[in-house]
Amino acid sequence: MHMGAMTDRVLRAMTDDGAFRIITARTTDTVTRAIAAQEVEGAAARVLGEMVTAAVLFRETMAPTLRVQGVIKGLDQSGQVIADSHPDGWNRGLVQRSDEAPPFRLGEGALMQMMRSLPNGELHQGLVELPAGGTVSHGLMGYMQQSEQTVTMARVAAVLDESGAVKAAGGYLVQLLPEAPEAEGALAIMAQRLEDDFSDIEARLVDTDASPDHLVEEIFWGMKHTRLDDSAIRFGCDCSRVRVLTSLSTLTRHEIRELIDAGEALEMSCDWCGSRYRVELAELEGLAQPS
Ligand SMILES: [Zn+2]
Repeated sequence: MHMGAMTDRVLRAMTDDGAFRIITARTTDTVTRAIAAQEVEGAAARVLGEMVTAAVLFRETMAPTLRVQGVIKGLDQSGQVIADSHPDGWNRGLVQRSDEAPPFRLGEGALMQMMRSLPNGELHQGLVELPAGGTVSHGLMGYMQQSEQTVTMARVAAVLDESGAVKAAGGYLVQLLPEAPEAEGALAIMAQRLEDDFSDIEARLVDTDASPDHLVEEIFWGMKHTRLDDSAIRFGCDCSRVRVLTSLSTLTRHEIRELIDAGEALEMSCDWCGSRYRVELAELEGLAQPS
């Protein structure tokens, strides 16, 4: 370990008695970039940060090759927030809200969906409804319980200051393992510990620069445990010129002709990361040719 600025990471550890697995993440920088790319603030920004963090934690519970996407729908047509987490360590988010949408709002009846894609392209997905006062954390726990049949306790948070800057973002996910010895007693102790000291993690995230090491050491305090994994995560996107051109190929030749007749190169930007792509008239001409 070296001193210096903390970077975004996700850690995985297990108690040596085989009772619990923990995953913790620092997502401050990733969330900062995701919020900036989406140009959102307030509740939508916070939920975006929480969803990105939830997707990171959820992906880390899976086989390393899986890609994860989470979607949460706000109440009263207040929009939806999507987060993507990729096995290579990059993550991104998307906020979809109409201009007239009321402030983004979660709560009883809001729906959260988690999806994971298998290497063969198959999709596994599950949908949960948030309870009264429900947050992204409740949705994540509900999903793990319902769809993955695992007893899970989790919290994610993104703390913003008055100007909207991200002070800290991160979270944890603790699972009771199926082979846990004396499972009931162990679970009761862990549940009580998390309830007492880790149910509201915002101040802790700010005080520790969202250190994922801190969360592992404190939640597993007094329990022998072993680190299993420690990997860097970052904001990223898989958009490219090729993808932009491919998306244009779904237009009819007539629609492309109209773009060409407008006489200007086409400026497009990625909805997820904001990267700009310029499609020259000559390229549009190429697309307009019968193939
Ligand atoms: Zn992009």
